[in-house]
Amino acid sequence: MAYEYDSENIFAKILRGEIPNSTVADSEYSLAFRDIAPAAPEHILVIPKGAYVNFDHFGIEASDAEIVDFNRLVAKITREIGVAQDVGGQGYRLITNAGVHGVQDVLHFHMHILGGRRLGRMIAT
Ligand code: AMP
Repeated sequence: MAYEYDSENIFAKILRGEIPNSTVADSEYSLAFRDIAPAAPEHILVIPKGAYVNFDHFGIEASDAEIVDFNRLVAKITREIGVAQDVGGQGYRLITNAGVHGVQDVLHFHMHILGGRRLGRMIAT
């Protein structure tokens, strides 16, 4: 079954500049911005600029350059916001939700970076 991407999802609109965002970082293939409803003191979303629905779509069909760019940007942000242990931070959590069981709301692949407080159990329910 082919991946189906809905170009009317909210992150596609952010990428097209149709709705505003609070940009944290912008690289050749990726964009990072603050989550509109933060679940922790630091809550940033990193998305590829390409049209990928979720992690497996991205991992299978994205180019090496896109994947490297994305991963390096995620890592760079953990340092820039001070949560990486390397810069004296207390750590962070990365989450990516996929599909119905993953409870994915926005159907454009995104990685949540969460930090700034102790985050509790990994799965609440
Ligand atoms: P998920 O459940 O993994 O699909 O998460 C989607 C995330 O997108 C949620 O944490 C929302 O708060 C966040 N979100 C939705 N709309 C926006 C927006 N316009 N700008 C920033 N974050 C958003």
